Amino acid sequence: MFGLMQDWPLLCHRIIDHAATQHAGRQIISRSVEGPIHKTTYAELRARALRVSQRLDREGIRLGDRVATLAWNTWRHMECWYGILGIGAIYHTVNPRLFPDQIAWIVNDAQDRILLTDLTFVPLLESLAGKLPTIESYVVLTDAAHMPKTTLKNAVAYEDWIASVDGDFAFLDLDENTAAGMCYTSGTTGHPKGVVYSHRSNVLHSMMASTADAMGVSSRDVVMPVVPMFHANCWGMALTGPMNGATMVMPGPRMDGASIYELLNDYRVTCTAAVPTVWLMLLQHLESTGSTLPYLDRVVIGGSACPRAMTKKFQENYGVDVIHAWGMTEMSPLGSLCTLKPEYVDLDGEGRLDIQSKQGHPPFGVEMKITDDGGRNLPWDGKTFGRLKVRGPSVARAYFKDEGGSILDEEGFFDTGDVATIDRYGYMQITDRSKDVIKSGGEWISSIDLENLAVGHPKVAEAAVIGVRHPKWDERPLLVIVLKKGETAGKNELLAFMEGKIAKWWMPDDVVFVDEIPHTATGKIQKTALRDRFKDYVLPTAEAAE
Ligand code: ADP
Repeated sequence: MFGLMQDWPLLCHRIIDHAATQHAGRQIISRSVEGPIHKTTYAELRARALRVSQRLDREGIRLGDRVATLAWNTWRHMECWYGILGIGAIYHTVNPRLFPDQIAWIVNDAQDRILLTDLTFVPLLESLAGKLPTIESYVVLTDAAHMPKTTLKNAVAYEDWIASVDGDFAFLDLDENTAAGMCYTSGTTGHPKGVVYSHRSNVLHSMMASTADAMGVSSRDVVMPVVPMFHANCWGMALTGPMNGATMVMPGPRMDGASIYELLNDYRVTCTAAVPTVWLMLLQHLESTGSTLPYLDRVVIGGSACPRAMTKKFQENYGVDVIHAWGMTEMSPLGSLCTLKPEYVDLDGEGRLDIQSKQGHPPFGVEMKITDDGGRNLPWDGKTFGRLKVRGPSVARAYFKDEGGSILDEEGFFDTGDVATIDRYGYMQITDRSKDVIKSGGEWISSIDLENLAVGHPKVAEAAVIGVRHPKWDERPLLVIVLKKGETAGKNELLAFMEGKIAKWWMPDDVVFVDEIPHTATGKIQKTALRDRFKDYVLPTAEAAE
């Protein structure tokens, strides 16, 4: 027997319908690409999204067509998302921080038909246009007054483009499994792979993200996604905010400490999210200006490991709770968040920070396991580490065009490529990416643990650890350090700082100081480039062993 409840497909545009009905006047405040602060409401945003749908429909965009966006977080970008998916087309967020050739590759692979771009990227696109044969027209997200002269094919200013239709249109009724959005993984090896979200997966993901033990978003919140909409689906926040009727603050193109601080303070943001690099800039700004964060309640930090010192500063100096989170593009992207269960809630000081260094526990809808290389389950003891695998309704089951073939194990779990421990209360901690883990004498050393420890040294700005060939042990850790401006330090000072805080055999065999550590387009340390640079590096311990 089936249940007798209504079949109400989980469609993303129902989220903006809900926001415009229940929270019509709530504001979306953006720093526009043109400069000034812009304010709109959910009711207006929905009305303009309908115009986007209507205009796309007039251009012959149909179910399943891909429409690319190359844009910062603004109200216009949100309107475009809802307008695109409202007619069953697919928003394809392109990351402008990728190499130009990679951008061209991705747009061609997705066969995008229209490209919506911010003013910032017009010159980049002009230089790439010859390589983008599938793009029929370019819409520049600005008004006629700011529209530049451009060689882009069929270029039009967004405000003119949507003004050419009357908005008398309805979002389509679709199967909830219809594709809604697309985002490519940054592809540190091989070509990037397309992840295709469905309406259903996006809606369920935002429901998960909303729960109290995840981001806990309500209509009383002022939510600022600093994480860009082109990075891993914006951690779902362009959907989670409207789903809960939260006021939204969209930071546009400026993510430096002073600009972010201004928005946090002027618009009384209560909940925000971004990668650690952004928060490093904010904390430096706060320290140099002596500013405080009286309104901010919690900050979600993920994308790479949140340094313990960062959590401590936010909480102890500014009274802001840190929610360490982990996820990936393939997971829509949230996988776990480190809020405190009753077993840990009474901890304070260093004990609390120990737990908050973990990436946390999954919300309902994400299942986790850790296995050895043979696929056998490993114990949840907080010590044993293995391959982290996940399953759930917002986890990818395949890549676009079946790139990479079958990606699930026989139980339907996806291998995240991360290595992790899980403790008895279900808290997961990433110890490495499987390709970055250092294999020393058959045992694994976590590069992330060593990096976290090294950045705790007051003179260190950034640290990376890579495995370097060793004649006896196979690989041994090499610590690569960028010192803070004006600081000097030697190898022994750093090693002495780490000594006693980790197992002796985890201690780096050598330390090198560099001016800069290379980063990927999503702000992660580019270990492949570092390994390349130091591939012939001879460790002092290697010479001794030979
Ligand atoms: P990209 O490689 O394009 O940046 P993602 O943003 O999807 O792709 O990256 C996902 C990966 O980022 C995860 O598999 C994990 O290795 C890393 N990651 C994300 N959050 C964290 C975190 N809190 N701590 C450590 N690693 C993290």
